Amino acid sequence: MKQPFVAPKGTPLSSDFQGGPAPILSSPSIALPQKDGISFAASSVPQTENTIPSSVSPSPPSEDSSLTALSQEAHRLRQEFPLLRANPQLAYLDNAATTQKPQVVLEAETAFYSEACANVHRAIYSLGEAATEQYEAARRRVAAFIGVRPEEVIFTRGTTEGFNLLAHSLGELLAPGDEIILSEMEHHANIVPWQLLAQRRGVVLRFIPLTDEGLLDLAAYEKLLSPRTRLVSVTLVSNVLGTINPVSRIGELAHEAGALLAVDAAQAAPIMKLDVPTLGADFLAFSGHKMYGPFGIGVLYGRQELLEKLPPFLGGGDMIREVRLDGFTPAEPPYKFEAGTPPISQAVALATAIEWLDRHGPDRFGHYEALLGKRLYEGLRTIPGVRILGPDYSTLHRSSFKRAGIVSFTLEGIHAHDLSAYLDTKGFALRAGHHCAHPLARRFGVVSSLRASFGAYNTIEEVDALLEALEAAREEL
Ligand code: PMP
Repeated sequence: MKQPFVAPKGTPLSSDFQGGPAPILSSPSIALPQKDGISFAASSVPQTENTIPSSVSPSPPSEDSSLTALSQEAHRLRQEFPLLRANPQLAYLDNAATTQKPQVVLEAETAFYSEACANVHRAIYSLGEAATEQYEAARRRVAAFIGVRPEEVIFTRGTTEGFNLLAHSLGELLAPGDEIILSEMEHHANIVPWQLLAQRRGVVLRFIPLTDEGLLDLAAYEKLLSPRTRLVSVTLVSNVLGTINPVSRIGELAHEAGALLAVDAAQAAPIMKLDVPTLGADFLAFSGHKMYGPFGIGVLYGRQELLEKLPPFLGGGDMIREVRLDGFTPAEPPYKFEAGTPPISQAVALATAIEWLDRHGPDRFGHYEALLGKRLYEGLRTIPGVRILGPDYSTLHRSSFKRAGIVSFTLEGIHAHDLSAYLDTKGFALRAGHHCAHPLARRFGVVSSLRASFGAYNTIEEVDALLEALEAAREEL
């Protein structure tokens, strides 16, 4: 393969991650008065089946023909992505980190600057009104995409900011000794904000353990739930293991215990129809850049009754109704949580990305990428010395978990960073490291793993070429 990019210099060949989070469970109990006015009781939203399409679970009879047809389509789709068009030999397999952007998304952002650039919510003049209308139309588009009201959509910088906002605001309403349940497979974005909160307020964190297969231990989860549990915050799709968690069921149990459910949908948004009412999420966060949209924009959904009770996160312009010298009155949600000038052009381009995604069907992409993942998984199993993290397909059909198109693995005797640098010289872009999930890496005793994460434009040929390159790496490294 042609080498599309020069391999980064100075790639560490054997770096380990160091240290770990401070021991938060022993943080001092700060006696702060508990504020009331927020109910942790179950949402009134109907709790039904998991929203994960059954198609994500590959079905054997039609798998091959379906994969071939979808791969032909993926070849055509590549043409919509300027970076991929310019680098036809690049096998970009780091979609869990960020996806490439289609032409329409780039054009939408440029068009905003060329045709409607003004600040929002301030101007009476028509250009300012046009900018506000585009920004609010983007909010309505996002709301329709996840099945909620526009007032429940807060624009953030990304999933990380969404969880920081939530931990900060919801945290103000928690008392020392209140409990939050996370899981051992969370991205740092859904761990560290809660650890900071635990340090600040003496809130206690509990973690759902993982089975050796890379599934959440649901029996252990049930035992962790208690009358002290205020929130359960878990990922819908693991960015390392590819595990798709039965979040609706997790939410039902949380609600029965009187707790709220927050969902990390960063990896889920590009691969499945996210219907918040069906999922039963009280809060849900995702990032634009992982779903073919721009950087610098994300979404935090919050149930309206809850958003009304949560205090603001950042202070400044736009988030207030009135400011006096002795205090302020916040604006209504979602504006209460959007201090300062928001990411306007990014919101507009995110709406275009969502339209693009909706036109193709995120479920279809999810189904296709899961099939690519399965092909890679099966190929990897035939390579001696490969250890795959995450669930084995042979056991998945007996469980409520599924597997997405994310496959992390190690190759005995070769550091993942060396492997990534080697693959780069062959035209493959794959992430090596801990993937912002130190506790997960530690749980499986892996310092660094290589991760292939698929997007809508990846092809069968790329999977097969990767398998060949890995065989070659065993000989050459
Ligand atoms: N959660 C998950 C599951 C992720 O994969 C990521 C990004 N890798 C994040 C949260 C954080 O997203 P962002 O960096 O866009 O805030």
